[in-house]
Amino acid sequence: MVSPIFSKVLVANRGEIAVRVQQTLQAMGVGTIAVYSEPDSSAPHVALADEAYPLQGFTAEETYLDIGKHIAIARRHGAEAIHPGYGFLSESPQFSRACLEAGIVFIGPSPESMAALGDKVRSKELAIQAAVPVVPSSPVCEPDGEEAASFGADLKYPLLVKAAAGGGGRGMRLVTDPKDLTLSMESAQREAAAAFGDGRVFLESYIPRPRHVEFQVLADNHGHVIHLMERECSIQRRHQKIIEETPSPVLTPELRRQMGQAAVAVTRAAGYQNAGTAEFLIDEESGQFYFLEMNTRLQVEHPITEAVLGLDLVEWQVRIAAGEPLTLEQEDQRTSGHAVECRIYAEDPYNNFAPSAGKITHWLPPSGPGLRLDSGVAQGQEISTYYDPMLAKLIAWGPDRQTSLRRMELALSHFPVLGLVTNIPFLREVIRHPHFQNGQYDTNFLENTPAITQSRGSEETRQLANALAAWASSASDDVTSPGQTAGGREPVHDSPWRAAGPRQFP
Ligand code: ADP
Ligand code: ADP
Ligand code: MG
Repeated sequence: MVSPIFSKVLVANRGEIAVRVQQTLQAMGVGTIAVYSEPDSSAPHVALADEAYPLQGFTAEETYLDIGKHIAIARRHGAEAIHPGYGFLSESPQFSRACLEAGIVFIGPSPESMAALGDKVRSKELAIQAAVPVVPSSPVCEPDGEEAASFGADLKYPLLVKAAAGGGGRGMRLVTDPKDLTLSMESAQREAAAAFGDGRVFLESYIPRPRHVEFQVLADNHGHVIHLMERECSIQRRHQKIIEETPSPVLTPELRRQMGQAAVAVTRAAGYQNAGTAEFLIDEESGQFYFLEMNTRLQVEHPITEAVLGLDLVEWQVRIAAGEPLTLEQEDQRTSGHAVECRIYAEDPYNNFAPSAGKITHWLPPSGPGLRLDSGVAQGQEISTYYDPMLAKLIAWGPDRQTSLRRMELALSHFPVLGLVTNIPFLREVIRHPHFQNGQYDTNFLENTPAITQSRGSEETRQLANALAAWASSASDDVTSPGQTAGGREPVHDSPWRAAGPRQFP
């Protein structure tokens, strides 16, 4: 047997992405080390790993964001490399550098190229150098004084205040009236300083009805860069993606070629290595595309690219980090069929998306042709509100768009989860919506379709929930009683037992 590329890799993350990365490592014959916070001690990513070590603490700051703890565990237990997943430390140049200094391979870009591209202002400068169109914007500026006001007037209102270090839709403010500029910039600065430890903000022209279309890139350490087509991510809530699909319903072959080339050009200009994503906005009115930012990590929605291209992006991340050449050629990349992904969250779409917590008493995912579930949770697990509320991602592939959407809709209809509230019925309503079905949507879709969060699920969903509630309550003793844990805690707030009842589904 050939020896594996690394003997052991530490996965510095939790939830579905920690599970997903470990699955590839194990398939490659690489040993896996998981790390976990106290609330995660019985999470699937811990159970799956060959070895697992506690990070001791509860909050993200005490655990998954602590660079020193990860490095210490990796050293003590002989990890040759660290995979950061997405979120947490994945976009921290300090972490990438700390790995380097500890003699541990960071599975991602160098600290320098991460710092250059992870900063929205610097990455735009690189894009401009590479002759890639960017959304017009100001340099980093301070809220008070003439400077910001004059940049604002030049860019024209409405405009967006953005954090240079921003991510996950945070540190962003829409300003429609010049008199609100100072306050919006101050509040964006505060949010960015708290979230990213970097409060720098800048101003950007607001594109009224854009589509968010991004390109996956892969770059090895030997100068070979390719793109792996696009992902359409315009179904968003508060600037965070919820549903993604590929191919994009609006890309012509010519636009795809131009945008793919632009993604490769920015990647090259930054001397970037490993997997990354170039995000663009398309102004449908003018047909113009603009580079928005580069995400210097694996993206949440990477599975839809894997589905249409039949490759494993995590495997390529690992191979590239180990110094292997990227053997894929641009001209060989042809997509097959269509894929769509839904992000499943522990939140109540019919109560202002309030996060929901509790024990997952029943988790019965669908299966079938073309379906993939990337999940970080298991039945019986207690879900806390310490971290991001994403539980899992459901991916449906089909030979054509219609089939993949139909498979997704059916899968969402046959995915009972009890013990906490999820957004599954809401996702299904979006998939079924005529504008989604015909591909005519932009990033304002949800804001412009309030009815979708006011409907309380269909008759079918209600019947299913009721049937399950009845079945579960008559199930064996090892299933805890509705809304309670074995310890006899207080009933869980927002229990699905209420969701299944007449109050939530009138
Ligand atoms: P993607 O572009 O991969 O869809 P999102 O912007 O939706 O990424 O964010 C993915 C995850 O990473 C979310 O859990 C989000 O909260 C988190 N995240 C994104 N950017 C940052 C950041 N700069 N710092 C910390 N967490 C982040
Ligand atoms: P983040 O780092 O939080 O992901 P992005 O700059 O990628 O921030 O923007 C996230 C989302 O916010 C975009 O997908 C889009 O919906 C919206 N957005 C960002 N910039 C603009 C803009 N200039 N005009 C209109 N919408 C924008
Ligand atoms: Mg983004």
